[in-house]
Amino acid sequence: MEHLKGLNTQQIQAVKETEGYVRVIAGAGSGKTKTLVSRYVHLVKDLGVNPSNILCVTFTNNASREMRNRIKAQLEGLNLSEGYITTYHGFCVKVLREDIYKLQIPQSFTILDSEDQKTILRQIYEELNITSREYTFKDIIRRISERKQDISYIEEYFSVDSANHYEASLSSNDSLPDTIFKRYLFKQLRNFSLDFDDLMNFTIYLFMRYEELLKKWQKRLQYIQVDEVQDSSAKQFMFVQLLANYHKYLFVVGDPDQTIYEWRGAKPELLVEFDKLFKYSKTIILNQNYRSTPQILKVSNSIIKNNTLRVEKEMVTQLPDGKEVVYYHAQSNLDESKWIVNEILRRSKEKNCSLNDFTILYRSSYLTRVLEQALIMENIPYSIHGGIRFFERKEIKDIIAYLRLIAFNDNTAFLRIVNVPSRKLGKKFVTDIVRLSEETNLPIFSTLEQNLSKFKQKGAKEFVELIQGLRRLKTSKGISDFVKYLFDKSGLSLLYRNDGDYERLENIAEFQNSLITIEKTSDEVVELEDYLQEISLYNEMSKDEEQKHNKVKLMTIHSAKGLEFKNVFLCGFIDGVLPSQRAINDRGVRALEEERRLTYVAMTRAMESLYISDSEGYNYTNDSDNQPSRFYFEIDNSLLKREGYINSPVFDSQNITYANKRLLPDTPKSTFRVGDFVFHIRWNKGQVIGVDKSTRIYQILFPEFNIIRNIHFDFDGIEPFK
Ligand code: ATP
Ligand code: MG
Repeated sequence: MEHLKGLNTQQIQAVKETEGYVRVIAGAGSGKTKTLVSRYVHLVKDLGVNPSNILCVTFTNNASREMRNRIKAQLEGLNLSEGYITTYHGFCVKVLREDIYKLQIPQSFTILDSEDQKTILRQIYEELNITSREYTFKDIIRRISERKQDISYIEEYFSVDSANHYEASLSSNDSLPDTIFKRYLFKQLRNFSLDFDDLMNFTIYLFMRYEELLKKWQKRLQYIQVDEVQDSSAKQFMFVQLLANYHKYLFVVGDPDQTIYEWRGAKPELLVEFDKLFKYSKTIILNQNYRSTPQILKVSNSIIKNNTLRVEKEMVTQLPDGKEVVYYHAQSNLDESKWIVNEILRRSKEKNCSLNDFTILYRSSYLTRVLEQALIMENIPYSIHGGIRFFERKEIKDIIAYLRLIAFNDNTAFLRIVNVPSRKLGKKFVTDIVRLSEETNLPIFSTLEQNLSKFKQKGAKEFVELIQGLRRLKTSKGISDFVKYLFDKSGLSLLYRNDGDYERLENIAEFQNSLITIEKTSDEVVELEDYLQEISLYNEMSKDEEQKHNKVKLMTIHSAKGLEFKNVFLCGFIDGVLPSQRAINDRGVRALEEERRLTYVAMTRAMESLYISDSEGYNYTNDSDNQPSRFYFEIDNSLLKREGYINSPVFDSQNITYANKRLLPDTPKSTFRVGDFVFHIRWNKGQVIGVDKSTRIYQILFPEFNIIRNIHFDFDGIEPFK
């Protein structure tokens, strides 16, 4: 059995334990996925099981692709297209494509993405004459998803005789969100389309309603394996349990410390309590790490051990010593990115090292803007996995289209944004104006300006006035101010705020931030035209790079899960970025611990070298006041090789205590209250004017010096004033 060579005793045990309920619990890089893959190969090669009788699921697309590639590599020549190596959703799509016809829905049904969902909502809002000020799309999509937590909505839908009947029920006295939900459901099903939540729900519904279907699938799937089970929701877990209920062969692997989807309903408890759920189950523990050097593991362990909600375990590695983990503290985000890029350039010249071996990980996608800039400046090809390049993102393209129309009277730009946000200028308007401009041989916008009286639409006049107004303003404002103004005035700002779309807003803020940086660092006034020329050059260059295979990879930590890379840069290690500001504001232990697990996932992706960096001027919200991530202070300094500018008070020992204190879940009582008088060793008499229990900070006014200072509860240089 060639393919079992190189596995350790526990791994072989797990591979051969092919029957019954089995779980493998182990830390990052201990070979869980490798074991699962070997087990699959063992089933097929040694036991003759057909791939179409094995279900092998995991949580994310990236991880399932990785799993499929690893299996393929070992089962060369075998056709796996009949098999089910996929995500939960991918598997449900397979079931539905085969059996959904039972519900009078064609097998060729479409799958809605979030943009499609918004398109449906836009129609409904128009029909009901409501605006997204009442309910943002984001809010409604969340509510729809909540309604789809269980499958009762499908039962309701199919319990009425026909869809027409359902339509009639739309006008009842439902609350507004209910009405929107019903209409949404009606519209999507009339078009035979299912959204993401529907995929599993419809599959479960089919199984509940048609027992023979459930039996068919249960019998077909003789062996079921689940990777990354710590991120499965209760529903997903129930689903595999249901499928396994005939043969009763269920194999799950996971690591509770890598749960990063709790916010989306992950239930790591199911893995922890697996032995109670299935009485005769077996548990196999792997505790040896094969991926990372001892240096990388020590840093990762020193972070994760601070979580309180966890089963204690510490990974050990047999690998020889490697490079020290490097920590770089930059003064600005561009400085940070340049350092990363220089390090990649330097290292890629080493023997056996290519650009492919470098991966940059980050908490939020807006952080790529400045990374991309630094990579492009050095002509380094890169690709963003599971994401879109900054300047290709819709919201950025929209704003650039406005700018291009203003500066160059560009036709493509006109067509892109004439109706964004909606000015009720539909297809007919566009066809008419394009035809007219062909006749007049002028740019479309100029044609519209000159023939405005021919168009009755109010929106057309508004649009012309908007662009004319902006053109007049262009030279009187700095480019960053101008863009800010444009953003508000054009209605784009409201559009995205109403959509409640954080990511887009973050990207736009980052775009504005980039303009501020350009202005600050340039001696001359930055002209809009020059700026546009420059970024179009960026885009051209990055298109050339598409062709090349040897590229640096960029991805969010979430999409890096389950993968491994030789050299990892974890950038933007800043309080407010990682942990995210939302997690900090949340103030709960759970949210912060999930961020700590994310950090752990990021670090444990690295095989040979790990670089961590932060910068004082990353966050657009507070230009130069960033603190390193609070998790930084959990790493023993002797484990890091510090580089860059170090002489900063943010790293001094008092700060370390401060940052650690901020981690305490429940804050002990304060000694002073608002209004109390205190005596400070340096500033003498002061009065407490604020007490923040979450950060454990007093705000104190010292009248003699006319200053207000933030002082920590633990500082022992203040006492009651007598
Ligand atoms: P994660 O928790 O990050 O998903 P994992 O537990 O699934 O990690 P794998 O990705 O399966 O870990 O394995 C990590 C690395 O260790 C891989 O490169 C794999 O080939 C290697 N590996 C696993 N087991 C062994 C072994 N017994 N001998 C040598 N290398 C191994
Ligand atoms: Mg894995």
